[in-house]
Amino acid sequence: MTPTLRDCRARDAQDPLRELRDQFTLPEGVIYLDGNSLGVLPRTAAARVAEAVTREWGQGLIGSWNSAGWFDLPQRLGNKIAKLIGAEPGEAVATDSTSINLYKVLSAALNIAAQDAPGRKLLVSERSNFPTDLYSAVGLCRERGLQLLLVEPEEIAAALTADVAVLMLTHVNYRTGAMHDMQAVTAAAQARGILTVWDLAHSAGAVPVDLNSAKTDFAVGCGYKYLNGGPGAPAFVWVSPRHADRFWQPLSGWWGHAAPFAFTPDYQPAPGITRYLCGTQPILSLAALDCGLDTVLAAQPLGGMAALRAKSLALSDLFIELVEARCAGHGLGLATPRPHAQRGSQVCLTRTEGAYAIVQALIARGVIGDFRAGDGAAGKHLDILRFGFTPLYIGFEDVWNAVEHLKQVLEAGEWKAARFNQKQAVT
Ligand SMILES: *Cc1c(COP(=O)(O)O)cnc(C)c1O
Repeated sequence: MTPTLRDCRARDAQDPLRELRDQFTLPEGVIYLDGNSLGVLPRTAAARVAEAVTREWGQGLIGSWNSAGWFDLPQRLGNKIAKLIGAEPGEAVATDSTSINLYKVLSAALNIAAQDAPGRKLLVSERSNFPTDLYSAVGLCRERGLQLLLVEPEEIAAALTADVAVLMLTHVNYRTGAMHDMQAVTAAAQARGILTVWDLAHSAGAVPVDLNSAKTDFAVGCGYKYLNGGPGAPAFVWVSPRHADRFWQPLSGWWGHAAPFAFTPDYQPAPGITRYLCGTQPILSLAALDCGLDTVLAAQPLGGMAALRAKSLALSDLFIELVEARCAGHGLGLATPRPHAQRGSQVCLTRTEGAYAIVQALIARGVIGDFRAGDGAAGKHLDILRFGFTPLYIGFEDVWNAVEHLKQVLEAGEWKAARFNQKQAVT
């Protein structure tokens, strides 16, 4: 039996995580299924940022580097993030953007590979990886005379040859929501002497991650998606303690120096992850990210990432079931793998035409998801309607209502209106 609205309300009433939603300011009447792209505003963030501006900056002035603890914010926030990704205190820092952190760790990984396994010429990644990851990789390959080999997910195992220096993957695919088995892929790579770099942009705060038990080498991730850090929030970088002290990262700067206030002309990298900092950090943005991290850590007493994951799967299972039962016959497909172990916290529907306009019509009704253009592989062009399920603030009734809106948009052909078919700069 397909669940009813009543069933969904009953599940919300029994949901042990439901009060976590009170941590956020969400506009009235909005069902926000885009926390995988930009997380929502924590209630504490406006006051925290205002305090950082008016009291810490306005009154404390330069003294706030010490008195307000500005200087070690990257490490303190890194320690909070560590709890969400299976890392120890002192192993991660919040800093810079995902793109910049990726450049640092890829570069360090290639340096280590050149020393430990010289002569390997390949950097392997997935063709459907997020473009910035591929652009960073291709830039480094050009610089170093290496070759970037792009494969499909099912070709990864066979691509792990003795010519490969580094394997760089995004744990959860940004378009389809497909998730790699981090532990198995890392073990397969390491058995062939290949270093692994993982992008956790769609994993940190969304799915349980255990970097140390998976024995991964390097990881980066995003602050403004599931971590609710705000637009352009600082990202994070983690390096296995096995490697952290072995190499300079390429953006050697004074914040990564062992003694930045000695102001010596020679560079002495700080021990551990601190050397992955470059220059002065955006304190106001770090203050907002701190609030976002606290919203995810608030789930710790309620079962932490395991409880969030269980609810996220329940929400996305419900969405798939309701779409298949209530929107049948409207040309929708499912791009996200069904097995739980193979997907993250988003569901991607496909359609050959109208995907962009359907998403726009849903947004006009207050159901916010997003659109990603298909790759047209094998002659079949399938665009993607992407819906993120963030268990901190989405409930079962929200899922019901979202599918009801989708059904109405499709049945009435509402998406065919001209105003829903004009593309904007940011999709
Ligand atoms: C969102 C995302 C990024 C974003 O990188 P920025 O430097 O913040 O623009 C990078 N990689 C992946 C896989 C992403 O999903």
